[in-house]
Amino acid sequence: MGSQGRLFWAVLGYLVCCCSPGVEAQFPRVCMTVEALRLKQCCPALGLEPGNVCGILQGKGQCQGVHVDAQPWSGPYTLRNVDDRERWPLKFFNQSCQCTGPGRPFTAIDFSHQGPAFVTWHRYHLLLLERDLQRLIGNESFALPYWDFATGRNECDVCTDQLFGASRPDDPSLISPNSRFSLWQIVCSSLDDYNRLVTLCNGTDEGPLRRGPPRSSGRQLPTLEDVRNCLSLQEFDSPPFFRNSSFSFRNALEGFNKPDGTLNSSMLSLHNLAHAFLNGTSVLPHAAANDPIFVVLHSFTDAIFDEWMKRFSPPDNTWPEELAPIGHNRLYNMVPFFPPVTNDQLFLTAEQLGYTYAIDLPGLLEETQAWAIMVGATLGGALIALVLLVLLLVFFQHQRQRKGFEPLVNVSFSPKKYMEEA
Ligand code: ZN
Repeated sequence: MGSQGRLFWAVLGYLVCCCSPGVEAQFPRVCMTVEALRLKQCCPALGLEPGNVCGILQGKGQCQGVHVDAQPWSGPYTLRNVDDRERWPLKFFNQSCQCTGPGRPFTAIDFSHQGPAFVTWHRYHLLLLERDLQRLIGNESFALPYWDFATGRNECDVCTDQLFGASRPDDPSLISPNSRFSLWQIVCSSLDDYNRLVTLCNGTDEGPLRRGPPRSSGRQLPTLEDVRNCLSLQEFDSPPFFRNSSFSFRNALEGFNKPDGTLNSSMLSLHNLAHAFLNGTSVLPHAAANDPIFVVLHSFTDAIFDEWMKRFSPPDNTWPEELAPIGHNRLYNMVPFFPPVTNDQLFLTAEQLGYTYAIDLPGLLEETQAWAIMVGATLGGALIALVLLVLLLVFFQHQRQRKGFEPLVNVSFSPKKYMEEA
């Protein structure tokens, strides 16, 4: 093996030992004191109150003896009482914090919506889910599908028994018995109960999946024009990087204002409108992921985000470094992913992350030009084509500008629903 080969193996060894994501063998820095090591006790106080050891005052945990596996082992191990990893971690600590109560699902704070991290958080969530599904079915090339919800229609075209389930004839808020999702149970929906009981969701069934019918009968899904309008917004996000940001691509896509970026706090569009259209389980942010449609709704949202990334190639300073809501600054580690990953690390084109979308989202000038060229070719004659091209360009440009500020029809529904904090 040459020196390059040795370097390769050394680097690989380093990566395997030091960077593998599953490694969780680090001690809290606060326990790295002579005193703590002498006492073999790693039971720091939570917060500033010294008596609040392991958060005992809030019932979060307590200092306990560490239990280790006492069963015999096999294999060629000859270092008994020499190797520090034996009976891990007793060589270092024999007392540590043990969680007694779970945390608490505080309401009205949300690290993944109503701010720039909306796009990166959901993207990373989908990537992890896709990875899990690949492992589950043993197919590394499995990819999550998307649902092009920008149909402008008043029905859900993927809500069929072959796909995500039609509605039940005798109760349209439930899923048809012919669908594989008809008996699908939802979990982790009763936030108020957890909060009252100071407990966390334990994953038990909390009733059937519910969907539609839309609360307002005139409600329609977003249109292709909505997608086009939001993709024309060059600014990624704008202060205060919240749900009241205007001319913000992110906020238009998330759907707290009109697709063209003008603020209308009472309206839902694009992503939010798709959730609201589905109704039922899908309208509550903390419960929406129970509906399998969540996955395809969000992969389409991610496809629109990807189109924006490709179109505008934003520089690094596009994302707010500070003063975004908690969870949304550029270098914030997205909650609850571990090992840590920042918003910044997902602010790339999908291709840079190793995937692409097989969809052509509507361009602006590109589409207009393609139209003009097609019409020109059928008429023949270079001069006529040229004149038409110019006329069509002017016409379409005019059309686009005019349409850009037209109010959308059928937006008279209530602004509660998906934007309502759970
Ligand atoms: Zn969503």
